[in-house]
Amino acid sequence: MLAEDRIKIQCYSKIQYYKEKGYGENKYDSVIEISPNDLPRTSAKKVKVKCDECGKVFERIWQYRVKSLERWGKDLCSSCARKGDRNNSYNQDRKELLEYARSFQKHECGVQKRTPEQKRKMSQARSDGIAEGRIRIHSHNWGEKTLYQSTKTNEKHYADSLLERLRMIQLDSDNKVVYWTKKHKIKILYKAKTGEFHYYIPDFKIIYSDGSVVIEEVKGRMTDDVKIKAKYANVFCNNKGYVYRLITQRELNENGEYRKFIRDFRKE
Ligand SMILES: [Zn+2]
Repeated sequence: MLAEDRIKIQCYSKIQYYKEKGYGENKYDSVIEISPNDLPRTSAKKVKVKCDECGKVFERIWQYRVKSLERWGKDLCSSCARKGDRNNSYNQDRKELLEYARSFQKHECGVQKRTPEQKRKMSQARSDGIAEGRIRIHSHNWGEKTLYQSTKTNEKHYADSLLERLRMIQLDSDNKVVYWTKKHKIKILYKAKTGEFHYYIPDFKIIYSDGSVVIEEVKGRMTDDVKIKAKYANVFCNNKGYVYRLITQRELNENGEYRKFIRDFRKE
């Protein structure tokens, strides 16, 4: 159960949301006191929760509390959630479990040595998957992977970073953009610094109302790797009659837009 029935939050972009919840007219930076139950489902706000089994009081991010409540039917601390038949290995033969665990030691944590040919095949399969939108990739840029539905095309795309999400919103609101997608099936073979060949999948394919096609990459910062990929992408685009465009965080943050976006996104 909840250990606090009122919490203080700032409205930010959720002014209309909280108005509909009955918290009156507020401003962007208004601090209001609300019931945690009125937080948006995906809120990242930390809320004090009491474990329904051991009574321990702990903090949990609201969206995780919602999910955990749906899963267990009650609030459980991390230790109680691992007890009894909630634990995958509960009541299983210990000997079997140990054998299973040891099998990883033999194979260096399950990683086998792969031949260059195997590696190349894996790389190709993986980049095919990413280019067609079947595989979601990990990103370290803010580590925030979110699903975004375009208001322009109704297509759903995973944004691998908040930077990318902001760019998607910009593309949706740009009147000159007719269509944009991440599922463009474009992959560009390039030679990395190590001398190995890899596939590079650009972020966006954008079609403008004048018929021009832009292949776009959104990057937090410039690295050697980004420059090498850009070199190959430029050649690829020239051959196709496309334009290659590289956008950095600095350009997206003109007028502090990116910073404001992140702040809005993180808070409720
Ligand atoms: Zn507990």
